[in-house]
Amino acid sequence: MANRPVDTDRAATDRKAGFDVQAEFERFDQRNDVFRRSWWDSRIRSDESKQFYATYREPLTLWRRTDGFTQKDYALRNAAWHVSDLFTELKQDEDRREGFTDEFTLDRGVARERMNLGTPAAAAAEVKRVARGFGADLVGITAHDERWMYVNKFSDLSLQAKPQEIPAGMTSVIVTAQSMDYDLIRTVPSALSGAATGAGYSRDAMVVLSTAQYIQNLGYRAVASMNDTSLAIPLAIQAGLGEYGRLGLLITKEFGPRVRLGKIYTDLPLAHDQPARFGVKAFCDVCRRCSQACPVKAVSEDAPTTMRHNESNLRGVRKWSIDAERCFGYWAAQNSDCAICLRVCPYNKDFSKWWLRVGRWLAGTPLRRLMLWLDVALGYGERMDPKRWWAAAG
Ligand code: SF4
Ligand code: SF4
Repeated sequence: MANRPVDTDRAATDRKAGFDVQAEFERFDQRNDVFRRSWWDSRIRSDESKQFYATYREPLTLWRRTDGFTQKDYALRNAAWHVSDLFTELKQDEDRREGFTDEFTLDRGVARERMNLGTPAAAAAEVKRVARGFGADLVGITAHDERWMYVNKFSDLSLQAKPQEIPAGMTSVIVTAQSMDYDLIRTVPSALSGAATGAGYSRDAMVVLSTAQYIQNLGYRAVASMNDTSLAIPLAIQAGLGEYGRLGLLITKEFGPRVRLGKIYTDLPLAHDQPARFGVKAFCDVCRRCSQACPVKAVSEDAPTTMRHNESNLRGVRKWSIDAERCFGYWAAQNSDCAICLRVCPYNKDFSKWWLRVGRWLAGTPLRRLMLWLDVALGYGERMDPKRWWAAAG
């Protein structure tokens, strides 16, 4: 295995992962991420987008009487983001928004002595245990893959491109997934449901910072990262955490698309996981729940393609791509993030229940259309009244 050329390994991994990378492939520039464009691109930036961000940060004034968008709902959403926001804002004076546009530099440095953790397989098992101990629900490890690194970072503060700073020699990426609250996501669309996203990021920060510091304490380099520096979804697929779905997100076996992803780049020698598929592509081929539910038709109804809606899509990979301009426009208009596509996805379930695990198995068989019919007929994916979520809290 160690003597095989890298390209052969990569082609084999791509086949297992279901990646269809074309000759015209280009690495993504973070400047074109729709959230970054919302700071510099007049086609995206608007009074609504400015207000959208302001409601996360400034003292609350913009709640409505509508159920799910009251002061209480925004109060919870913003509180859930609070820990993540604190980390992200700590180094704004240095033109850094760590976790979103820059990797974390909040660490105590690398120990002078390197501890031997045994074989790469033993080290990988130990690191996974540690990451789970810090709150990760899923952990996978893959080879560092330059293709998914942003060409450049982009600062929302100075509105300038910035060079990558991940040190050379990082051989592995540890990918973590933190699940988001099932019932909160059921209340989408609502400001209340944004608490699931915020809490996911806040947990994410704890997991990646602590796991990276643990590795540094053993004498190896480790850099904690969330949405910054690289595309997390292809890394997560390579690391065996799930498959790519029509809605443009990772679909995990354990939580469906209801996860937030974290990453740790490291030079600690670790065994790598393999992509693991469980029938998502074939199921998405027959299912259109996300594309039909999207209020702005941002999710593709068609087969995977290399066609790009705009510069926010990756060039040169045949896949389902969402129209991020339409999607973000809806978020800004309703003054909170949306996850309707995620709510209605048949893989978005509480799989601690055995009958839902049976349904997931059915989705991976030729009886997938029956599973889809049952999913709709039994009312899965319908919106939960936000009042019911608050009532259960009592
Ligand atoms: S998050 Fe909402 S607007 Fe965006 S693609 Fe999903 S359903 Fe559509
Ligand atoms: S809703 Fe259906 S088509 Fe969309 S990602 Fe989920 S399984 Fe795939």
